[in-house]
Amino acid sequence: MNTTEQMIRKHNFNSGPSVLPKEVFEEASASILNFNNTGLSILEIGHRTPLFENVLEEAVSLVKELMHLDSDKEVLFLHGGATTQFFQVPMNLLDEQAKAAYLDCGTWGTKAIKEAKLFGNVEMVASSKDKNYTYIPKGYTIPEDAVYFHYTSNNTIEGTQMHAIPETKVPLVADMSSDILSYNMDFNRFALIYAGAQKNIGAAGVNLVILEKDMLGKVNRKLPGMMDYRQHIEHHSMLNTPPVFAIYVCLLTLRWLKKRGGISAIEKVNDRKAKLLYDTLDSLPVFKPTVAREDRSKMNVVFIMQNPELEKPFLDLCKQEGMVGVKGHRSVGGLRVSLYNALEMESVEALVSLMKHFAQKHG
Ligand code: PMP
Repeated sequence: MNTTEQMIRKHNFNSGPSVLPKEVFEEASASILNFNNTGLSILEIGHRTPLFENVLEEAVSLVKELMHLDSDKEVLFLHGGATTQFFQVPMNLLDEQAKAAYLDCGTWGTKAIKEAKLFGNVEMVASSKDKNYTYIPKGYTIPEDAVYFHYTSNNTIEGTQMHAIPETKVPLVADMSSDILSYNMDFNRFALIYAGAQKNIGAAGVNLVILEKDMLGKVNRKLPGMMDYRQHIEHHSMLNTPPVFAIYVCLLTLRWLKKRGGISAIEKVNDRKAKLLYDTLDSLPVFKPTVAREDRSKMNVVFIMQNPELEKPFLDLCKQEGMVGVKGHRSVGGLRVSLYNALEMESVEALVSLMKHFAQKHG
């Protein structure tokens, strides 16, 4: 058995870095040894060569195609993880005297708010902290004088997801790290979208940022070059050496998504996976989903055991059956199953059958 076969025997429910398509692993491995029959590894090609320029260009164009982006949208691949965007966004968009509106609906949104406060005024329009972020706040008002409204589209840790884009004239900024490319929406409604790549886009080490150029250059502060979106746009994400390999893995994953029929096709599969898992959890009293039903995430399914003492035996059984990543985030505990694009239905079916077996034994 070769190493790829050994690897795919595991069902990987990790929250990110997470499962990627098998063919991406195979192609990426082959390219480490010999990239496009060049006799060079992808790890040793120069970034300012046509070899890499083609990789970056195709990745950008696939993002535009898959997300049906308007021609005024700029697509960047930047360093630093989504956490960098928590401060790069306000640094570029929020003047000291100006105001931005934020929705506080999970751990990552809270971090984004903390960083934005370093640069200007922040109005928190609503929060679900009162119930440990187990629901998405509704019925809030977004102040019309805010320069932008920021929210997290999917709360990776708590397992909630926004199922509709808020209606507002205020420019929308969204952290889509954990649900980008998983279902169709009108991505053109956003002034700025950012997402760490390590879930649905590709390998860790790079961020996808999609933005409108028009909104830049309006703040008074001076920006370091690496923090200035305008410079990244001007230099086509090559202001300095980009994370070549991470971007290459993004390209392979984007190609795979296109081959699978694009976002609409993967959305159908994602819906089926989430339905099967939630239906199972709802039908087995031994498990208890923790999130408001209407706000359940289709990417990160969070639940606890009715009897907390059964958590360890359940996790032990998962481990024994080759299922990894089922333990909840250290800050909330419990259990979490991530169902990103590359997780195949058969992994969910295997988990569901294990859950039924466990419930029969302990129910
Ligand atoms: N936002 C969300 C929604 C996330 O899930 C994560 C990480 N899992 C982050 C931000 C932070 O990303 P990074 O570690 O790439 O900085």
